[in-house]
Amino acid sequence: MPEKIDVLEKSYQLFSSLNALQQKFLSKIEQLVPVITGDVWKRAQENGEVLLNYIAPEIDADLYASLATEICHLLARERGGKKEELERVSDFFNRESGHLCQDLLQEGKLSARLSAAFSPTEQELAYFVARQSLRPFLKKFVAQLPPEVGGAGWQRRYCPVCGERPNLSYLRREDGRRILICPLCGQEWLYRYLACTWCGNEDHGSISYFEVKEVPGYEVYVCKKCRGYLKTFNERKGSGHEDWLLEDVKTLPLDLIARRDGYSNFQKLVLN
Ligand SMILES: [Zn+2]
Ligand SMILES: [Zn+2]
Repeated sequence: MPEKIDVLEKSYQLFSSLNALQQKFLSKIEQLVPVITGDVWKRAQENGEVLLNYIAPEIDADLYASLATEICHLLARERGGKKEELERVSDFFNRESGHLCQDLLQEGKLSARLSAAFSPTEQELAYFVARQSLRPFLKKFVAQLPPEVGGAGWQRRYCPVCGERPNLSYLRREDGRRILICPLCGQEWLYRYLACTWCGNEDHGSISYFEVKEVPGYEVYVCKKCRGYLKTFNERKGSGHEDWLLEDVKTLPLDLIARRDGYSNFQKLVLN
């Protein structure tokens, strides 16, 4: 299917450029995480509350706006089309980033701001740009957090830092334990090996995995109870990986197979 391969190839190129841009900005971000006392983390953990509810990174509005603008240019260049929409999205971030920064970390508030400013098609673009521009700021934040945040104390199905659901996980080489990966902030955290990350089902009889030789190193766990799936990189089978954002794009053939078989990860494919 050359058409499908072409689309996958183009998506990979687009996300490689996006990832390179985010890396470039990551090195410009100078934010310091407020010190987290053991008490704050203990309380958050017990209540199942995400860390951003307690402490949040200071986001430099100008730097954020300039990354958002560059992402709009990148999309216009690599995707073609939607030039006017991207122009409006880019203007919006330049104009509003000062006010917007307060709302970026709260999903509901961000969506409300974007839906008030844009048509449904533009909203989707703006939402993508807003989140992708946020990634390096959150990554920087996560890199400065103490290791306990990803430790065995959390074990929930959503990210301990930002609350996002994982779309990838990996099995650690040294002990085979499963680590979930947050697609937004990049935080990694331990989770039970065979439990479903969508419904929590632990009945081994209704959880299985498949693999295909075209995507080496990956296993896709599927849950017959909720019809959810999760792509998982097995470090003992695979030989290294790129940034998880790129891995997610590279493994799109697995999403297509899982979806064809009636499973879902309740997220939109990055392909769209
Ligand atoms: Zn997160
Ligand atoms: Zn399930």
